[in-house]
Amino acid sequence: MSVPNGSPTELQEYRDGVRSWLKANAPASMPSAAELIPAAKAFQAALFDAGYAGITWPKDVGGQGLSAAYQQVYSDEAAAYELPTYPFIIGMGMCGPTVNDLGTGEQRTSYLPRLLRGEDIWCQLFSEPGAGSDVASLQTRAVLDGDAWVVNGQKVWTTNAQWADFGALLARTDPDRPKHSGLTMFILDMHAPGVTVRPLKDMSGRAPFNEVYFDDVRIPVDAVIGQVNAGWNAAVTMLGHERVSIGATRKPKTNPMEFASLVELARRHGVTGDPAQRERLAELYAHERVLELFNVRMRQETMAGNPPGARGSVAKLAGALLLRRAIDTAGQIAGSDTIAWEPGDARGAELALGINSAPASSIAGGTNEVQHNIIGERILGLPKEPQVDRDIPFRELKVGTQRG
Ligand SMILES: Cc1cc2nc3c(=O)[nH]c(=O)nc-3n(C[C@H](O)[C@H](O)[C@H](O)COP(=O)(O)OP(=O)(O)OC[C@H]3O[C@@H](n4cnc5c(N)ncnc54)[C@H](O)[C@@H]3O)c2cc1C
Repeated sequence: MSVPNGSPTELQEYRDGVRSWLKANAPASMPSAAELIPAAKAFQAALFDAGYAGITWPKDVGGQGLSAAYQQVYSDEAAAYELPTYPFIIGMGMCGPTVNDLGTGEQRTSYLPRLLRGEDIWCQLFSEPGAGSDVASLQTRAVLDGDAWVVNGQKVWTTNAQWADFGALLARTDPDRPKHSGLTMFILDMHAPGVTVRPLKDMSGRAPFNEVYFDDVRIPVDAVIGQVNAGWNAAVTMLGHERVSIGATRKPKTNPMEFASLVELARRHGVTGDPAQRERLAELYAHERVLELFNVRMRQETMAGNPPGARGSVAKLAGALLLRRAIDTAGQIAGSDTIAWEPGDARGAELALGINSAPASSIAGGTNEVQHNIIGERILGLPKEPQVDRDIPFRELKVGTQRG
């Protein structure tokens, strides 16, 4: 399939169209928590109708089949707004692309257009209490019973599961194989009997993620993504999309940890003339810009058929380090205002929320330490970590409840 790259004139026309559409259709303010899901679904449907959903996705699943240059133009323009698209980030950034890569024709055409039209929200069900960085140690079991797999177990830290209609579930289907080769990925209907979702609060006071329990949940055999027992391959595919998606997602300029917001914070505190603050802000701007350009190049190369591989870890790690730098800068500018503010001071509360939410990015999608390992081994060619459990049947490993 040839993908229209876009001449400078075509891209400028596209930019003009995106700009006027967003001006007319972007919500004036973020919806309240109670209104978020209907508002997010309505906005996603409107994006789809306007031709701005799945800009780089194939046309046969409802995408626009355009190049990364068009996506970049849309992202540049959208960064000026705070849009209610958060509930779709996992579906659009990770699950959808994985179903597109590995799903059957039936799965692609059943699930992907619905996702683009904003009808379904997705979550990613990988991590467990004993399997985070080492996700291949997971213990949730799926056992074949006639025409269905029966799932029992528990997941944790599942972002957006409280709203999700579907989840990409990784479960152990053959404990007699070594840990990486006995896993299978499934499309799970989150409304199926036996699925229980319980919220977990983070240190910002919000509950963006959940524990999810499976109690004899039946999954039809045609819901396997890829092949049975080849779930590790599917997981690596999704983690690749996850790192690029996390690293490349543009935050709106209004996000309190973005350069534009921190300059505004410096203005409010009257420190824009202070050379030390100016230097900090200039460094932050440079890092933000370099990461942006790195991500543009990665997207363009991906579209040209050169998948990012371990470079996704560079984007993910750089994004987390940039946020740390932004927290430091905010603290230097605002001092004690970052931890105490007057009741009713929405800006103060927003700044504190931004600061308390940012450290999670050093853990979500794989910790900074794990990204260092990936970059060291796969990009720099350093020796691999020793893996003594790689060839042993999972059943014989002392992990989680098997320790006793
Ligand atoms: C905001 C947020 C959202 C999340 N959303 C989801 C989601 O939607 N779905 C999902 O499945 N999971 C999700 N997670 C879970 C996330 O993927 C895991 O927390 C992460 O992979 C780390 O696993 P862990 O918490 O079990 O820590 P552990 O793996 O127990 O790690 C503990 C510490 O040991 C270090 N460490 C572990 N192994 C190594 C190693 N080999 N070398 C060096 N250091 C090492 C880690 O870096 C870390 O500092 C989310 C997490 C957060 C914070």
